Amino acid sequence: MKSIIILLGPPGAGKGTVGAELSGILDMPLISSGDLLRENVKNETPLGEKAQKYMDAGELVPDSIVIKMVEGKVAEDKYSKGFILDGFPRTLAQAGMLEGIISGNDILRVFYLKAGDDFLVSRLSNRRVCEKCGKIYHLVNLPSRVEGVCDACGGKIVQRQDDSEDVIRKRLNVYKVLTAPLLEYYRKKGVLHVIAGDTNVEHMLDSIRKIIKW
Ligand code: AMP
Repeated sequence: MKSIIILLGPPGAGKGTVGAELSGILDMPLISSGDLLRENVKNETPLGEKAQKYMDAGELVPDSIVIKMVEGKVAEDKYSKGFILDGFPRTLAQAGMLEGIISGNDILRVFYLKAGDDFLVSRLSNRRVCEKCGKIYHLVNLPSRVEGVCDACGGKIVQRQDDSEDVIRKRLNVYKVLTAPLLEYYRKKGVLHVIAGDTNVEHMLDSIRKIIKW
């Protein structure tokens, strides 16, 4: 029996931040498809080379590429007892792949972090990340102690290439067309929990704690 948590929601809703916190609290490994893809781009792997143009444009990387990548990951021993997914699935085809590895007695929970467009554009425009460890900051609400330097690892804090306003808008549209249908898919399965994403991380974790007790 394994436990699977899916963090679903538009870009900027807090999936990455909540995922990192939950992973520590619940002692469950986190799989972020965006982080995996960025790692491949950084290391100039063949997968990264294929994925980069889609990521830069704010489009989804084709299902065939992402599904193979995540399938390979979840097959590792480390994930046999369960995992938290940030940014996957993002299409019905990806949800179908996941369905194939979930068995009857596994526990699946989907948390939908919900927030409106204006809020998301503002949060993403102010988002900064550590280029070394991926820790997420916000210029106003969650700044690093020393400007430009990661609190956790001392790495350099940068703005993600796809966090420019035009690419943000594109990503929000892609989310509405390709990813939002997953809400209905998981609602019908009775595993969807709606969490207010336009709040701070403590508040989101409090809401999740009411569903998964810890
Ligand atoms: P994220 O870090 O989750 O915002 O993802 C950054 C970018 O990586 C997205 O805009 C997509 O181009 C790509 N990406 C991440 N996860 C997926 C996925 N599950 N399916 C397709 N593309 C993805």
